[in-house]
Amino acid sequence: MNAIEVNKEDILVLPDSRFCLNNVCIVTGVSSGIGRATAIAASVNNLHTVGIDMDEEGGLETVKLVKELGGQMTFVHADLTRDDEVEIAVSKASGIGEIKFLANIAGLQHIASVEEFSMEMYDHMQGIMLRAPFYLSKLVLPYIKRSVDGIGVIGNMASIHGHVSTANKSVYNIVKFGIRALSQSIAAEGEGLIRSFSVSTGFVDTPLVSKQIPIHAERLGITEQQVVSDIMLGGSRVKSMMTPIAVANLFIFGFSRFSNYLVGGDLLFDGGVVLTY
Ligand code: NAD
Repeated sequence: MNAIEVNKEDILVLPDSRFCLNNVCIVTGVSSGIGRATAIAASVNNLHTVGIDMDEEGGLETVKLVKELGGQMTFVHADLTRDDEVEIAVSKASGIGEIKFLANIAGLQHIASVEEFSMEMYDHMQGIMLRAPFYLSKLVLPYIKRSVDGIGVIGNMASIHGHVSTANKSVYNIVKFGIRALSQSIAAEGEGLIRSFSVSTGFVDTPLVSKQIPIHAERLGITEQQVVSDIMLGGSRVKSMMTPIAVANLFIFGFSRFSNYLVGGDLLFDGGVVLTY
């Protein structure tokens, strides 16, 4: 569990009539990192957040953080690899208000070469980071269509690894390229009323990243500090990791009326990793 610090003044709050308590924003991966920050930001923007995660303790901690900031959130325990649990979570969300927004954020990293990668881990990662976002989208779309104005937005967490591939992260690269295709596919069918977008960042200061540091250090025979400065931030022009709330703000912007022309597009906020050399 990651007890991130979120100050209210760091949260992007936008005036949007759809940001109201009758409207539900489903967020996955809310027990930690970027998902937790996005749950907090959506709630502070006056949406009722329905947060999904398999880590109950972390999820309830997020609910507490949301309440401290005056927001509304309901936590639903679900394993995203289980279709039945995903279905129950969406059904619960539909009983709380009109489902208008979905943020697919939950994920994990596994470091291994293509030859070393187990097929069990391949299926697991694809299940959480590609299949579950597809299934959640499929379940949520009819609710959005039935809502009063038929308008809604699905945001998907991609990565710089959805643009460029690095060694020993093959399956992560594959699912992140794939989630951009999912965003574009939903947008292609949404007629401008149902939008979808992806968010691509470089390294963000979360447990997913801190767990990788000692593994890289051992593989490469360098210090953990060198992993951060030379490997993780080596290609970035900005020499500090992004905060989870800075990523959450991109979801808020993408969900809002200010992004009406963000239709299948990617918010690439990567410190220049992908487009500068
Ligand atoms: P994190 O480890 O802090 O949080 C991931 C959350 O997903 C956890 O709460 C975990 O319990 C949940 N989760 C994992 N498997 C689950 C399952 N089967 N069912 C339900 N919940 C499950 O990670 P994070 O850094 O906040 O990453 C969130 C997303 O952002 C991931 O998709 C990741 O690929 C992406 N991302 C992260 C970074 C980064 O540098 N941290 C950069 C770019 C993209």
